[in-house]
Amino acid sequence: MLADSYGRVATDLRVSLTDRCNLRCTYCMPPEGLDWLPGPAQLTDDELLRLLAIAVGRLGITEVRFTGGEPLLRRGLTGIVARTAALRPRPEISLTTNGIGLSRLAGPLRQAGLDRINVSLDTLDRSTFVTLSKRDRLPEVLAGLEAAAAAGLSPVKVNAVLMRGINDREAPRLLRFCLERGYEMRFIEQMPLDAQHGWRREDMITADEILTILSAEFTLIPDDPGKRGSAPAESFLIDGGPARVGVIGSVTRPFCAACDRVRRTADGQVRNCLFAREESDLRTPLRAGASDEEIAERWRQAVARKLPGHGINDPGFLQPARPMSAIGG
Ligand code: SAM
Ligand code: SF4
Repeated sequence: MLADSYGRVATDLRVSLTDRCNLRCTYCMPPEGLDWLPGPAQLTDDELLRLLAIAVGRLGITEVRFTGGEPLLRRGLTGIVARTAALRPRPEISLTTNGIGLSRLAGPLRQAGLDRINVSLDTLDRSTFVTLSKRDRLPEVLAGLEAAAAAGLSPVKVNAVLMRGINDREAPRLLRFCLERGYEMRFIEQMPLDAQHGWRREDMITADEILTILSAEFTLIPDDPGKRGSAPAESFLIDGGPARVGVIGSVTRPFCAACDRVRRTADGQVRNCLFAREESDLRTPLRAGASDEEIAERWRQAVARKLPGHGINDPGFLQPARPMSAIGG
């Protein structure tokens, strides 16, 4: 088990497959991009599968989410998913993507064993998409969403980050778009994880504000609060249900006390929290011939040191050195 000293057990592993991306969302990356990890620093398919086998076989991981950077840019992704699906006990396999390339990959990924997908979509307006992501690729994202639903990756979840004065007023339109297509929509508070360190609390659209904006057009009733469990999203019934919308108040309504996540970067570092300021290196022992049990023990120790909360609201908060795209969101 991956237990920490506060009684939490990590069962949900987020695996970054690459730190590269084909968008430049302003809350994540600067327009010029970042210094990508050099190829040899990244785990090979065999190395990452070995770590996954240790995670599900020895450490109680039951859910694996592939992310990045943009995971669809990882060569051999369908093969990685297929090999993950062949692990025993078989984990649930999901993917978080910006949707570019999904129109081609959704079917093969589904066939390889992908169970669920989250597609990030902050706007339906082409010029706002360019403002937000510095790339004119909205049609590809929308085609990817359709392909995901057609491939049976349902329910397709859609994540949006609202930016003040840019796409915040678009929230009801985004929600309606998702309702009409049977997608599950979740709005996420912007977190201080951008490479430029440009996050400002005053600019963040809070969970309260998200609910106010949506309430202008929908009646929202909190879903059974007992159902939240370790899920970060607070769920609300829309106009009496059964459709729901999720609000992830990572900053103003932290869910750290129920967190069941652990992360692994593309270069084989374990992070026990998005906001952790230390990492545990699994790549060096992996490449030096360590046994499965030695690696598992290192991983257990990394999770055991997990702090009780992310500390964003503490006066001395310091952003982690790696940005979101290099950690794996
Ligand atoms: N490229 C993929 C994508 O965009 O879905 C996967 C990686 S991305 C880092 C994962 C999620 O993190 C996306 O939904 C994105 O909107 C979100 N994200 C990125 N930076 C964020 C920030 N500063 N605050 C909140 N969410 C953020
Ligand atoms: Fe790329 Fe995802 Fe970051 Fe946007 S949020 S720049 S799509 S990694």
